[in-house]
Amino acid sequence: MQFESKSLEILAEALKEMESGFTELPEVSLEFDYEAMQRVLLETAEKLKDNYPYFHPYYAGQMLKPPHPIARLAYMLSLWINPNNHAIDGGRASSQMEKEAVADIAGMFGWDKFLGHICSGGTMANLEALWISGKLNSEKMIVASELAHYTHSRISEVLKLSFQSVPCNERAQIDLNALEKVLKTGRVGTVVATIGSTGTGSIDPLPEILQLREQYDFRLHADAAYGGYFILVDNLSPAARLTFDSLGQAESIVVDPHKHGLQPYGCGCVLFKDPGVGSYYKHDSPYTYFSSKELHLGEISLECSRPGAAAVALWATQKLLPMEKRGEFAAGLAKSRQAALELYQRLNSDSRFLLVVEPELDIVTWAPRAKTTSRISELSRAIFESAAKRNLHLATFNYPSRLVRKTWKEVQFDTDSVVCLRSCLMKPEHLDWLDRIWELLDKATNEVLL
Ligand SMILES: *Cc1c(COP(=O)(O)O)cnc(C)c1O
Repeated sequence: MQFESKSLEILAEALKEMESGFTELPEVSLEFDYEAMQRVLLETAEKLKDNYPYFHPYYAGQMLKPPHPIARLAYMLSLWINPNNHAIDGGRASSQMEKEAVADIAGMFGWDKFLGHICSGGTMANLEALWISGKLNSEKMIVASELAHYTHSRISEVLKLSFQSVPCNERAQIDLNALEKVLKTGRVGTVVATIGSTGTGSIDPLPEILQLREQYDFRLHADAAYGGYFILVDNLSPAARLTFDSLGQAESIVVDPHKHGLQPYGCGCVLFKDPGVGSYYKHDSPYTYFSSKELHLGEISLECSRPGAAAVALWATQKLLPMEKRGEFAAGLAKSRQAALELYQRLNSDSRFLLVVEPELDIVTWAPRAKTTSRISELSRAIFESAAKRNLHLATFNYPSRLVRKTWKEVQFDTDSVVCLRSCLMKPEHLDWLDRIWELLDKATNEVLL
C-alpha cells in the first residue's frame, strides 16, 4: 500500500464530535447526486495519477514533503465549517488556533512579544516583511545574496523598492566583503539573510551580519522559509548553530510550515519582532465584520480571506508534534540532515562526482566529473533522466560557475553557469532508504558515464 488511509476512520469520528456542537439547530437536508460525485471523483483520481510520487522516499528532488496525516485530517475536518481567518467572526476557533500556532513558531525563535500570522506561503510572507521594510525605509535599497530566492527581487519590483543582489562566496553564502561594500554606500535599508537557500540549503552567517549591523544601520530580514525549523535540531555544523542561535535578533523572520512544518500547501508565516509595525496594516474597510475589540487577524495581514483550515491543520500538527528541541518533530528533521550528510560523504569519496558545497541542512548538491562545465551540464541532465527512468527523482539546478572555480581544480570553465544535481532529502525516511537510493543513483550514473 502506498497511501495511508487508516486515519480516515478518525476523521469520521471527529466529524461526528464536531457535529454534536451544532445539534440545537433544526436539521437541513441537502441532496447530492452521489453517483455523479463518485464518477467525477474517480475521474479526478485517474487524473491525479499523472504526478511524480512526492510521498515516496524515491522522490528526492525538489522541496516537496508530504503533510502529516494529522494535518490532512484537521484540514479536511475544518472544511465542514470552512472558517475564514480574516476576522474572528469568520472563524472564532480557528483564529484562536492561528494565534496559538503562530506564537509557538515565534517561541521557537525565542520571541514572546511579536506580531505575526499565517499567509499563503513564503512569497506572500516575504512580501509582507519587505513591505514593512519599505514603509520604514522607502528611499533605501533591499539587498540579498545572489543565491537568495528570486522572489526578493520580484517583490522589490512590485513594491517599487530598489533591489541589489550581493555576490556569494564558495560556500554559497552572502560574501561579507561584498556586502560591506554595498553597505558603505549608505543606501541599504534592509539586508535579507537567507537561512537555508533554496538551491543548496546554504546559510548566510548571521553573527557576522549582525556585527555589520552595529556599524551600518539596517533592517535585518531573515528568509528562513525553508530552513527555519532546523533551529530545533542537534546536528548542525557549529557555524550554522551560531547563525540559528542569532536568528531572534532579526527584525522579521519568514518560515514556511508548508516546507518543513508538515503542512499542505498554502501555509507560510511572517513574524515581526516589533508588534508596533501593526500600525502600517491599519485600514478602514466598510465590508469586513470586525465586531469585537480583540485582535482580528485581518487587521494585521495583507491578504483578506484566509483559510482557517490552514491554521487548524497547523495547530493540530503542533499539538501532536510540539516544536521542542528534543521532540519527535525535531528528530525527524535531524534524520533528514543526517541523510544529507551521509549522501554527501558517499558522493565525496567517489571519484565520479564533484561536490558543490557541503550541506548545511538536508539539501545535497553535486555534479558528475568531466573536463568542461558544458560537458558536466550535459551529464547532469542525462543522469537526472536516467535516474527518473529508474523511479529515483532528483532535481537539477543551474549554479554560477564562478563559485566552484576554486574547488573544481581540473575542470575547464567554458560556461558561466553549470547544471548540477540536487536532492532535497526532506523525509525522515530518506535516511533509512539511503542504500536503495544510492544503488539507483549508482546505476543511473554508470549508464551515463560508461
Ligand atoms: C520556498 C522559498 C520561498 C518562496 O516561498 P513559497 O512558499 O514557495 O511562496 C522563499 N524563500 C525561500 C528561501 C524558499 O525556500
